[in-house]
Amino acid sequence: MSSNKSLLILPGDGIGAEAMAQVRRIIDWLERNRSLRFDLDEDLVGGCSIDAHGVPITDAVMDKAFNADAVLLGAVGGPKWDNIDFSIKPERGLLRLRKDLELFANLRPAVCFEALADASSLKREVVAGLDIMIVRELTGGVYFGEPRGITTLPDGTRRGVNTQVYETEEIRRVVRVAFDIAKARTGRLTSSEKANVMESGILWREEAQWVHDNEYPDLSIQHMYADNCAMQLVRNPKQFDVIVTDNLFGDVLSDIAAMLTGSLGMLPSASLGAADAEGKRRAMYEPVHGSAPDIAGQNLANPIATILSFAMALRYSFDLGEDADLVEGAVQDVLAAGYRTGDIMQPGMTKTSTTGMGDAILAALDKRQG
Ligand code: NAD
Repeated sequence: MSSNKSLLILPGDGIGAEAMAQVRRIIDWLERNRSLRFDLDEDLVGGCSIDAHGVPITDAVMDKAFNADAVLLGAVGGPKWDNIDFSIKPERGLLRLRKDLELFANLRPAVCFEALADASSLKREVVAGLDIMIVRELTGGVYFGEPRGITTLPDGTRRGVNTQVYETEEIRRVVRVAFDIAKARTGRLTSSEKANVMESGILWREEAQWVHDNEYPDLSIQHMYADNCAMQLVRNPKQFDVIVTDNLFGDVLSDIAAMLTGSLGMLPSASLGAADAEGKRRAMYEPVHGSAPDIAGQNLANPIATILSFAMALRYSFDLGEDADLVEGAVQDVLAAGYRTGDIMQPGMTKTSTTGMGDAILAALDKRQG
């Protein structure tokens, strides 16, 4: 029997709790059928924490997050907390987790499930079978660089300033994460910047090449300007395997890649921090979507993004690639069998609820397990 794996579950607000309940069922299944043991804890983040404690995340929950092998988060926010002070808004809980855990690498897979290829805005043949990973630098670059601000000029007009700034180690550490992921895939990494017009882009390109030459010489690296990368993502996305890029370009490129694959309800993500002496990284996993107040509490939410986020935790935090494959395979089976929540509904398919999707995935797991 494997040793315990500690997972802090933070369902959050809105559909977060409904989707997370389906993950709990999958965890139960894995414990029963795969001889795994998870050390689970669950707590509050976002609006529900504001209601209970007056803050979007407490120090006690932060301590738990520091001590867990991984954090799995649902979603935060909703109209109830729209008008409270900015400093304690639900999203501040998320930002504190990302910042204090120093999660500098954001992983956004863009996988196009065969059964959903017709739901993409691109032609089926362009997206069917797509499986790429975008690794975005998350804690540096122009969103954080100084100086920043808006000043008034002597003639009364104004100037807005943000600063794109990167240092060697900030680039190298995220490129290492991307190479580690590429190593377990096809070994091909594309590094994207604007070295043609930005000094920070030249540094990015040189440091990415340095990491390749000194630490991953057996893998391949190509450099691509970010504007070309955006074009190539919609022209021929299957040419890519892993893309690594800075905070700003990653924000844009990961959203483009996401839309190749269909609905928000299908998109997982991971944010990773530095590796410790044993190579273990701090990590938080969460769906890309928000708390969807318009459908919350009605058993309508698509739980797949949260389930696939959990599968990423299996793969990247718990070294359980086979179990991750199993969960992802079960999702694929259910989609191929025609089960759809409202957000991905297509003519001729079987409309199902949040719990119905959970039932179908558990049945598919049973079938795969034999
Ligand atoms: P949203 O992602 O919550 O919803 C956008 C639309 O997509 C809605 O129509 C919703 O019903 C639908 N949708 C999203 N996820 C779905 C799912 N799993 N299944 C079915 N349909 C789904 O974004 P929003 O409406 O802009 O924001 C709502 C709240 O969520 C706000 O308070 C916002 O601040 C918060 N938010 C939180 C996060 C997060 O926790 N990471 C991210 C984005 C927004």
